[in-house]
Amino acid sequence: MRILSQTEIEAMKEGLEAGGVKLLLTSIVDSAGVIRGKQVPVARLKSVHLAGLGASSTWGVFCIDNEVAWTPDFTAIGDERLRADLSALVELEGGLAWAPADVFGQDGEPTAWCSRAFLRQQQGRLEALGLDMLAGGELEFSLIPAEGPLRDDWQSYGVGPELDVQGFLFDVEAAFGNAGLGLEQLHAEYGAHQYELSLSPALPLQAADKLALAKILLGRAARRHGLLVSFSPVPFANGVGNGAHLHFSFTRDGQPLFSGHEGPHGISREGGAIIAGVVSGLPELVGLLAPSLLSPMRLQPGHWSGAYACWGMENREAAVRFCAATSGNPHGANMEVKCIDGSANPYIAAGAVLTMALDGLARDMSLPDEVGNDPVKMSHEERAALGISQLPPTQGEMLEALENSSLARGALGDMLLDALVAVRRHEMRTYGNTSLEDVTRKFRFAWSV
Ligand code: GLU
Ligand code: MG
Repeated sequence: MRILSQTEIEAMKEGLEAGGVKLLLTSIVDSAGVIRGKQVPVARLKSVHLAGLGASSTWGVFCIDNEVAWTPDFTAIGDERLRADLSALVELEGGLAWAPADVFGQDGEPTAWCSRAFLRQQQGRLEALGLDMLAGGELEFSLIPAEGPLRDDWQSYGVGPELDVQGFLFDVEAAFGNAGLGLEQLHAEYGAHQYELSLSPALPLQAADKLALAKILLGRAARRHGLLVSFSPVPFANGVGNGAHLHFSFTRDGQPLFSGHEGPHGISREGGAIIAGVVSGLPELVGLLAPSLLSPMRLQPGHWSGAYACWGMENREAAVRFCAATSGNPHGANMEVKCIDGSANPYIAAGAVLTMALDGLARDMSLPDEVGNDPVKMSHEERAALGISQLPPTQGEMLEALENSSLARGALGDMLLDALVAVRRHEMRTYGNTSLEDVTRKFRFAWSV
C-alpha cells in the first residue's frame, strides 16, 4: 500500500471537506467473502491511513453466520489495524467517501491474512517477469423486493424486467459513473430476477476494488428503491446461479499475449503457458474461486458456470472461456474465468488466477488442446480422451484439494490458506445437512451489502 505524505493527506482532507464529505467508509472483504468495515469522520483521515482502526484478529476467520472459525493462528488476543488505502479513495454521493482497507499488524507490517496484500503480491510477481495485465469483472445478482411477493414471471434478457427497475438502474449508472467504475453494460439475465453488469478492465487490484465497491453501491441504490440484492451463487433452490466471472489479458512490452502470435487464435507461447497453468491448477484452487457451501450447486454441468477444467473459444461450459481479438471485442483477446462466483473474496479469486498463471509460466507449460464442443454433451470416455475433468463437485472435495495444494499453500501461506479453509469447513459442518430450500434462503444475502 502506498503511504501518503502528511502534506498529501492534509490536501486530500481539505478537498474532501470542501466537497461536503463527512464520513469515510473503509472496508475489507473477509475470508468468507463478506464485506465488513468501519466509518470515521473525515477529520480522522490521517489516523485511519497511518494508524488504522482496531479489529480483532477474528476478522480473518469470521464466517457467513458470524461465528468464528478458530485456527491456531487466530485467538482472542491481539489487535489488527484496518488502514485505509487513500490512493484508492473514491468520493461517493451524499457526504460519504470509501477506501479499501489493508489489514496491518501493530508492528506496521501487513498481516499474513490480508487478501489485498496477497493480490498485490501475485500482481507484483507477474510484473517482475516483465508482464502487464488487466482484469475486468462481471457481476450477476438477483433483485428482490424488500417487501411483498416476488413476481413469478420472468423474461430472460427481457426489456420488461429492465424497465421494472429503471429508477434503480439510473441510480446505479450515476453512482458507478461518479465512482469511476467504468460501467459497460447492465441487463436482465437468464435466471428469474437475475441481472448482470460488467465493468471496464483495470489492474487486478483495482478490478477487485471495483467489485467490492460495486457491491456497496448496488446495496446503496437498492435501499433507495425498496429492493434487496443477492450475490449468492444459488439465491433460490433449483434456480439459476449467480456468477462473478473475471476476464484477464496480459501484455509484454505492450504486445498482447493472447493475439498476434503463432499459436491457435494468435496465442503466444507465454499466453499458452498462462492458460495451461489456469486449466491445470483449477481442480486444486477452485476452492478459492467458488468456495462456499452454495458454490457447488451452481458449478454444475449445463449451467454455463464453467464446471469443466478446460478452455475453448467462446465455450460457455469451459472454466476458461477464450475471447479472441475480433472486431466484436474492443478490449482485445482475453480469457474469462467463468467458475468464479460472488461468494468468493475477489482479491483472493483474482490472486488465485494469477498464481495459476505464474505456475504455468514457471513450468513453461504448453497450451492444452482446445475444446471446441460442449463437454456436457460428451460421454465420460470422450471427455477423458481429451483430458477434460469436472471441477470437484462438492465443497468437501474442493476444500480437500485446496488444503493439500502445495501451489495454494506456497502462494497464500499457511495462515491465510488455513483461514480460508476453516471458514468454509464451518459452513460444511454446520449446514451440510440443511435442506437446499433452507440453506439458499438463509444465505441469500450473506454476501450482500
Ligand atoms: N449464470 C451463469 C453462472 O452462474 C453464467 C451465465 C453466463 O453469463 O454465461 O456463471
Ligand atoms: Mg452472465
